Amino acid sequence: MEKALVVLSGGQDSTTCLYWAIDRFGVNAVESITFDYGQRHRTELECAATVANFAGVANTCLPIDTFAALGGDALTDPGVEVAGDVDDSTGLPNTFVPGRNLIFLTFAAAYAYQHDIGHLITGVAQTDYSGYPDCREETVEALQRALRLGMESGITIHTPLMHLSKKETVELARDLGALPAMAFTHTCYNGQRPPCGTCPACLLRAKGFAEAGIADPLLVAQ
Ligand code: ZN
Repeated sequence: MEKALVVLSGGQDSTTCLYWAIDRFGVNAVESITFDYGQRHRTELECAATVANFAGVANTCLPIDTFAALGGDALTDPGVEVAGDVDDSTGLPNTFVPGRNLIFLTFAAAYAYQHDIGHLITGVAQTDYSGYPDCREETVEALQRALRLGMESGITIHTPLMHLSKKETVELARDLGALPAMAFTHTCYNGQRPPCGTCPACLLRAKGFAEAGIADPLLVAQ
């Protein structure tokens, strides 16, 4: 049996990926991994555990406290507010946590190595998003190559959402039967439940559901 590991943040995209993996590999072959990287909004961790439990897969939470020690971004540093605009010098929003996806996938690959898992699934996408450079296909392909070399493994990184718009991601979630689980997900950059509705993450999520013509189960549940 080929086994798969989903990097699960508790958000809409990684939840869709979890159901993609279940559809492709079978629920008994899938588990999930979540990283406690010192995110200000602890509700993310609870959401990930709840989604995994709802989907019937195991969830392992691993601590990485170095990002919070580094600070300087809006997701881990209480002194940095989420800004709607990009930073003039970097061209990126201040919710960019440098290196985050690279580190997550590397630790996930290490876990996979130890548990004889050949497939990693991550919800990164290069369309319709904030332009995070670690979400680009080229970055993920280069990392996969580095991991294969560095661990002498045949690990494959799957990115089922890479070229989908938010609308298409919502439609994929519907087709995979992932919509009920969306009620337990968390997207808001301000960490609010019910979501604030005004931060960039809330706006992007709302746009996707609106364009797909589907009611967001998270909002329906409130
Ligand atoms: Zn929000």
